[in-house]
Amino acid sequence: MVNQWIETAHDRGASDIHFEPLDKDDRLRVRMRVDGELRGVETVNDGRKVIARLKVMAGLDVNERGVPLDGRIKFSASGGGRGGLDLRLSTTPCMGGEKAVLRLIDSSRLGMSLEDLGYTKRMLDLYRPHTLAPYGLLLHVGPTGSGKTTSLYAVLTSLNRTEINIQTVEDPVEYDVAGITQTQVSHDLGLTFPRVLRALLRQDPNVILVGEIRDPETAEIALEASMTGHLVLSTLHANEAVGALIRLLDMGMTPYSIAYALRCVVAQRFARRLCEQCRKKVTPPEALARLIGPGRAIYTGEGCKACQRTGFSGRIPLYEYMPMSDALKKAAYGETTPDALQAVAARSGMITMFEDGLEKASAGLTSIEEVLRLTKGLRTSPRSTAHRRPTTSATASSSGAAPRPSGTGSAPAARPAPPRQTGPQARPTSQSDVIPGVRPAPARPGAPRPPRPPGVR
Ligand SMILES: [Zn+2]
Repeated sequence: MVNQWIETAHDRGASDIHFEPLDKDDRLRVRMRVDGELRGVETVNDGRKVIARLKVMAGLDVNERGVPLDGRIKFSASGGGRGGLDLRLSTTPCMGGEKAVLRLIDSSRLGMSLEDLGYTKRMLDLYRPHTLAPYGLLLHVGPTGSGKTTSLYAVLTSLNRTEINIQTVEDPVEYDVAGITQTQVSHDLGLTFPRVLRALLRQDPNVILVGEIRDPETAEIALEASMTGHLVLSTLHANEAVGALIRLLDMGMTPYSIAYALRCVVAQRFARRLCEQCRKKVTPPEALARLIGPGRAIYTGEGCKACQRTGFSGRIPLYEYMPMSDALKKAAYGETTPDALQAVAARSGMITMFEDGLEKASAGLTSIEEVLRLTKGLRTSPRSTAHRRPTTSATASSSGAAPRPSGTGSAPAARPAPPRQTGPQARPTSQSDVIPGVRPAPARPGAPRPPRPPGVR
């Protein structure tokens, strides 16, 4: 039963599985977090047995029920080709027994190269030079389970060779990598982020990964290190790229050190990937076409056996890329509001998550509804960016039926119904900028060709 849940969770792309006692009758509720949302799976009897089974799998003492415990489970999924799965178990005593949470860490993602991460070619060309720089700070932000650590480890993997000393401080160490010195913080032993970071700076590192910048002290050391000849990679809790800049300023970092040290910020989150077996090109309804720009192809998953009728299979990350341009550095010195910083970033080289999502939706990798759902409420969502594109915003806002993905209003308005019809109006996808290693939607035989100008053969 436990194995089945783990496999289901892996298949659904869940980040965590929760097991919690419901009542005195030993019933246990099982839920999974998928795309950041907790969803019920089922309620079972014999809850204590399930918890005990989990503890055995993690090598923990079944009889120790009064204290919180942590363990690690190596799980090989059946069905082949899915690779190993690394799981972290944590248990906490509670009313009715113990609650257990399993965090899924996909070790098949370990050793991924930058090309495997789902960056568009355009974004990768902009991002890669930062990873090769001799010093500076690279920040990735996003919700828990958005793949930040995987992204940073791909950078480390690309730099992992004899001439480069790579050291990390993490809580906890998620991936085991030969050739990299990884240190786990331990609050019991007083090994905090700042303390480990100071120690490893005395070990002549070239590249440092700081698992997360949570406090001003860590932020300060990380910034200092990146100004003194080290490439520092880290994550920070923020929803969007500009949020990282604001967090650093809020933590009391000086505009000078931020401007000097920070190279770029990447925000990321996962979208559901369209099923390759049943995805189909559709013509967007007029209001949507106005929002996403004319002539853009979009796709929908019709649902088939391969994807359990959902139309989706697997996940693909969406990214927002914000370089620390000269204009943005200058803006950080001023009395700025988040909106003002955002506006400057937008004018100076930022690729918003919506733009990235749009490109991926046009390549048939995800649906436009997914992109709108995931960018809803972001400062860079289409409604907020509309003022930069007068032609789009003027027409979109004049139509009552225009979708308002960034609004705080009701959900249905923000999620336009998937368009169904195809027609000769559908233009072919521009596939010039698809993701390396990712198969875009194939041109269908018999798909309508664009009209040719007269006189051209
Ligand atoms: Zn399908």
